[in-house]
Amino acid sequence: MTISAARNDWAGQLYSGGWRSAEGGTTDVLEKATGELLATVGLAGAADVARATARAAAAQPGWAATSFEERAAILRRAADLLEQRAPDVINWLVRETGEIRQRATHEVRISVGEIREAAALAGQPYGELLPTTERGRLSLAQRVPLGVVAAITPWNAPVILGVRVIAPALALGNAVVIKPDVQTPITGGLLLASIFEEAGLPDGVLHALPGGAEAGEALVVDPHTRLISFTGSTATGRRVGELAGRNLKKVSLELGGNNALIVLDDADIDGAASSGAWGSFLHQGQLCFSTGRHLVQEAVADAYLDAITARAEALAVGDPFREDVELGPIINRRQLDRFDAIVQGTLEAGARLRTGGTHDDLFYRPTVLEGVGPSMPAFVEEIFGPVAAVTTFASDDEAIALANQTEYGLAAAIYSNSLARGLEIARSMRAGMVHVNDTTINDQAIAPFGGMGASGNGGRFGSLANWEEFTQWQWCTARDHAPRFAF
Ligand code: NAP
Repeated sequence: MTISAARNDWAGQLYSGGWRSAEGGTTDVLEKATGELLATVGLAGAADVARATARAAAAQPGWAATSFEERAAILRRAADLLEQRAPDVINWLVRETGEIRQRATHEVRISVGEIREAAALAGQPYGELLPTTERGRLSLAQRVPLGVVAAITPWNAPVILGVRVIAPALALGNAVVIKPDVQTPITGGLLLASIFEEAGLPDGVLHALPGGAEAGEALVVDPHTRLISFTGSTATGRRVGELAGRNLKKVSLELGGNNALIVLDDADIDGAASSGAWGSFLHQGQLCFSTGRHLVQEAVADAYLDAITARAEALAVGDPFREDVELGPIINRRQLDRFDAIVQGTLEAGARLRTGGTHDDLFYRPTVLEGVGPSMPAFVEEIFGPVAAVTTFASDDEAIALANQTEYGLAAAIYSNSLARGLEIARSMRAGMVHVNDTTINDQAIAPFGGMGASGNGGRFGSLANWEEFTQWQWCTARDHAPRFAF
């Protein structure tokens, strides 16, 4: 197919010191709603990974030595190119991931903002002067790049999840090797590489290697990679963390979530139901910060259930590229079967189906479950499908206990007409991101994004957090004259 978003150099290729054939062969990229072949791209094998990391390690010192103005200018050009090509990138996102146009548009917009914020990082102060006991000695703590950053990203929001690593890592003087998911290699890697290439990024500083688990593990254990920035499931994150730990790598794990939306008895129920529907059904519920558990105070439970059920039933499900719909396809059959088993298991355990629970091929109806108990699968597991699981509670303390009754800790939302009550509960949430009277689906380039517990190991993306993530401290001293020591 014709690609106008950027150069169509990826036919059978990957990006690693220019466009080249992959030793790992090729892989087909399918449109998720139709199964139509969109493109065939290079598939990285272990040899491609070793070659890319070696080239990245060789190119990184030169890149770090370029002036901050030059690095910022290249990033700003990349942001401009992504913005100019937004219509085509959005088309790719819709077809490659199955997300709706509105969500894809938002993803591209925040990705442009993320690159512009990263460009500004390059010109920020990178250290502090330290007091020193000796006269004439300069002592400073300065931030230095890590070297080669390996980014391993999932399919569900491939542009932003790639850009949030690539842009700040480059701005702060690192080289990057990104391995997008094989289901979304174009928006997750090759399209981004072509934009940075055209923006003037020097050869060898960025590599995009579509590949599967083998390529991912090769990146994790490779001697050249210094930071493994992994975004994906908690199960794979554990494996990546173990491998990285054994190889003494810095590892940043951004993993799954089982995010609670608490609706208190003084809440704006229509607003809360709007947030609940958006949180559970946007992108078919396939976002790390999708709303999983809806915890609703008993007095307002019926009203909330009626409101969210009405919203669910009004949503259109279909092919997001050709139709005006609110929900597209589930990414693949394996994923659909996984969360459908959670729905069926929860119904067998005694919950009731308010609406949905059926599907036509990959198109799953938005689903509302009521009477979900805390031991049922839809409460315990990350659903990652268009399912709102509703549980009731009696008191604020019970709501807090239920919300925290999970190994995950990514996002939470609280609906109340009392800001004080909402903020009080927010402080008790074991979650990396908490919003009062707003959705769990919140992301801003200037805010620290990340989770706790099984949602991640404490790494953060965004603005100042990027310094922590993509650089390390170096203590540096300097004297004017060489001193004489005791011997
Ligand atoms: P996944 O299966 O863990 O895959 C994520 C990435 O890891 C893919 O590129 C995958 O490659 C790669 N991978 C698989 N096995 C690997 C291994 N052994 N070593 C190294 N890399 C390996 O994740 P997913 O299920 O596709 O993505 C959805 C999950 O990501 C959900 O749990 C969601 O909550 C989470 N997520 C978290 C965030 C966050 O910021 N916290 C953001 C988005 C998504 P292939 O699939 O190509 O083999």
